Amino acid sequence: MTAPRVGVLALQGDFREHLAVLRGLGAEARPVRRAEELQDIDGLVIPGGESTVMDKLSRAFGVAEPVKAAIAEGMPVYGTCAGLIMLADTVRDRIEGQQSFGGLDVVVRRNAFGTQLDSFETDLDIPELGEDPVHAVFIRAPIVEEIGAKARALAELEDGRVVAVEQGNLLGTSFHPEVTGDDRFHRYFLSKLG
Ligand code: GLN
Repeated sequence: MTAPRVGVLALQGDFREHLAVLRGLGAEARPVRRAEELQDIDGLVIPGGESTVMDKLSRAFGVAEPVKAAIAEGMPVYGTCAGLIMLADTVRDRIEGQQSFGGLDVVVRRNAFGTQLDSFETDLDIPELGEDPVHAVFIRAPIVEEIGAKARALAELEDGRVVAVEQGNLLGTSFHPEVTGDDRFHRYFLSKLG
């Protein structure tokens, strides 16, 4: 079997961590900064970082429209934190003019935990990933406030707030599996690449 070719949007944020996890799993992982680099990949990861900056850079570099087209054509895409915001159809508490790629039929709220609880860690039960809980790191994270008919929740906090979603080939997490050493989310994503 040939190694899956996975792009990681490398305009801003923690793309190096994603590249390392994907390479550790045997994928041929490469940074994506230009439209041409989207052409010969089997899937795309959108890292954590700052969605407002990622939005501006993706439009300035001319990759926003090609990424949208790839999503529409069914390319598997996994977004973590800011990446989830970029995948969401609707973004609350966005800055003026901020756009997302969209595709994921959800409403997310940016920086949903406020300044009191900027960053925190917790364990999540995610049956799809096995019995062991997933240790999740949240850093100025978004929450999925509404889920449309096409998407489904994969993980919730104890209070029921949704922090991981899936919709066909699209996967999004509020938290950062790329920094914990637990590669089950990346494995789950790679299983979508066929
Ligand atoms: N708060 C950031 C944003 O709005 C996301 C933070 C993160 O990716 N860790 O894009």
